[in-house]
Amino acid sequence: MTARLDHRNPLVFDTHELGRRPGALQRLTREIDAPKDFGIQGVVGVPEGAPVELELRLESVMEGVLVTGTARAQAEGECVRCLEPLQLDVEAEFQEMFSYPDADDRGRVHHAEPGDDAEDDEDRLFLEDGMFDLEPVLRDAVVLALPMQPVCQEDCQGLCAECGVRLADDPDHHHDAVDIRWAALQGLAGSLGDGEKDEMSGAEPGVDEKQEK
Ligand SMILES: [Zn+2]
Ligand SMILES: [Zn+2]
Repeated sequence: MTARLDHRNPLVFDTHELGRRPGALQRLTREIDAPKDFGIQGVVGVPEGAPVELELRLESVMEGVLVTGTARAQAEGECVRCLEPLQLDVEAEFQEMFSYPDADDRGRVHHAEPGDDAEDDEDRLFLEDGMFDLEPVLRDAVVLALPMQPVCQEDCQGLCAECGVRLADDPDHHHDAVDIRWAALQGLAGSLGDGEKDEMSGAEPGVDEKQEK
């Protein structure tokens, strides 16, 4: 059993005012502080305590309350290409059915398709004392709305593979890749040259040929 819902929790909503007459509608807005781990861990997320604006539409239906809503917040993270900190506006939409616990059996008779009972039951969320906890629904919606690979700007060029400088800060920056290879070749050429010089200076011309004969 999960702990009883606490009506003082800002993510717990009370549907008593809405009532159980099917078709009844209630719209409400609420600003909450983002709970912990509100995003994709280590990539991008809404910082704990940051404001999240909620717009909800509660609709009373036969088996429970259908909740449709939008959440707006600002997420923070870092660019996956250049690692600069970034901020982005998140707008997450969600819709979830919270069933009356006492409507469970009725709902099952009417809606269960053969074979998907178990799955259906696991996924179902229920009202408890006429209240529901929006947090898991909201968290999933926000995570889905966030980019898996956030970038500071669409055309971020990332970091220089040679020296790690951020290319957007220094667009003309480049390294001559040829230079590096050339330097290696020059080094090689230099050592060959030294070797030749040593042979030339250290050995008498023609000595080798005489020794071979
Ligand atoms: Zn970037
Ligand atoms: Zn560089």
